Amino acid sequence: MRDFLRRMFALFLAICGIFSVFTIKSAAVGVYRSVSLDPEKKQIALTFDDGPHPRLTLEILSILQEYGVKATFFMIGENARNYPEAARAVAAAGHEIGNHTEHHLHLSSLNEEGLLKELSACKNSIFSVCGVKPALFRPPEGAATQTVLRCAERFSYPVILWSIDTKDWEVKNAGKIADSVLSGIKPGAIILMHDYVGKNSKTPEALRRILPKLIEEGYEFVTVSELLGFG
Ligand SMILES: [Zn+2]
Repeated sequence: MRDFLRRMFALFLAICGIFSVFTIKSAAVGVYRSVSLDPEKKQIALTFDDGPHPRLTLEILSILQEYGVKATFFMIGENARNYPEAARAVAAAGHEIGNHTEHHLHLSSLNEEGLLKELSACKNSIFSVCGVKPALFRPPEGAATQTVLRCAERFSYPVILWSIDTKDWEVKNAGKIADSVLSGIKPGAIILMHDYVGKNSKTPEALRRILPKLIEEGYEFVTVSELLGFG
């Protein structure tokens, strides 16, 4: 079974051409979801992890609205409960919301039961605050281990990583963050950013550099589900 999964996984990666985006379908079905990426469309997905944040999320939402851009927010359940207004504003603006666990713990320190609890609690927090059931999962730190993939299967969650890491939680320079996107962009890209990075976030400023440039180049910003054809 493990070999079969590995083979299917390799096949999936070869098909979609995005080497760091993993997707998996329910174990009951036992196959990976096929994805439809059309390079002609120049579609890309912006993703924001670790929020919501009471100020930064709203600031980012306002920039996205200004440019008519849709994105995907992988929320921490605890933050959604702590900042319900910001969480609801994300849902109300029509962005996609994904599961990023309840407490953002190091997943390698958790056993399967602990992981399932983290996924379930986050799903419930997002639903109780936003009225939305997350349909995607991004593991904290991209820890897509076999155990994590197995737990995600139990929720039928595709596991979504990224193809461009802006490191905006670390880089305090909007120009550098923007360059990491502009220099690596191609159709099908999934861009990792954060709407909760602690003090002195340069993410909003970087967005103001990235969005007009990529729109001018003909890129269309869509949610992860739209990009991967999950409908
Ligand atoms: Zn995270």
